[in-house]
Amino acid sequence: MRWLRPLAVTALCASLAACSTSPTGRSQLLLLSDDQLNEMGRQAFTQYQQDLPSADAASQRYVQCITRAIVEVLPEQQRSQQWSVQVFESEQANAFALPGGYMGVNSGMLDIAENQNQLASVIGHEIAHVLANHSNERASTESATQLGLSVLSSTSGIENQQLLGVLGMGAEYGILLPFSRRHESEADVIGLRLMAEAGFDPRASVTLWENMQAASGGGARPPGWMSTHPSQGQRIEGLQAEMQGAMQVYEQARNAGRTPNCPRP
Ligand SMILES: [Zn+2]
Repeated sequence: MRWLRPLAVTALCASLAACSTSPTGRSQLLLLSDDQLNEMGRQAFTQYQQDLPSADAASQRYVQCITRAIVEVLPEQQRSQQWSVQVFESEQANAFALPGGYMGVNSGMLDIAENQNQLASVIGHEIAHVLANHSNERASTESATQLGLSVLSSTSGIENQQLLGVLGMGAEYGILLPFSRRHESEADVIGLRLMAEAGFDPRASVTLWENMQAASGGGARPPGWMSTHPSQGQRIEGLQAEMQGAMQVYEQARNAGRTPNCPRP
């Protein structure tokens, strides 16, 4: 039944003008408003702040320095939106991004990422999730799936209000659920380009994944970021397929004087 999802998206796109295009040119169903999503992101971030202690000031400066360098190269509209990043004290190597530009990195991730370039691949990936509206798309698609075939077979009968009601239920899935493989690959590709544009060595993204694999070796519990990011081998292959272009972007950035200097504390 793999065709159900694309069908749902197509049918709803035809009836609702709720369709958008992701930065890589994929069509997306986006039913929630930015305001709704950003508010959910803010609430989830506040919850995270209550659950986990903040890391030391040097770690905050380190991660903020990398985030600033990447945000600096975004198009004007996205550069001027709100971006906040915080390092949390937790050994679990994890990072997340929420709508509204709220990002978190656990201190365990700072142990696995050996330098600014490796950590920039994590931050670039998380910023990419926000830029590509992945949370909105996920919540919208969950809702569309719940509508079922009966509704889809008569798309003209779908009322906006009805949809939003279902969406309210869909939103209960939460926005901290893992992203799909497609979203992960897309965030990898966009993130790789972002880090290169900011002057971080894109090859470090592959090293980071190798470090993640090594850290999870021996069948032990994989680091959090990895367990929510399936199929490591394919991820590395996907990054390598984009590496040649990313290296060109990286060299242009270096020549243009973008040489970020965010020393690891
Ligand atoms: Zn991700």
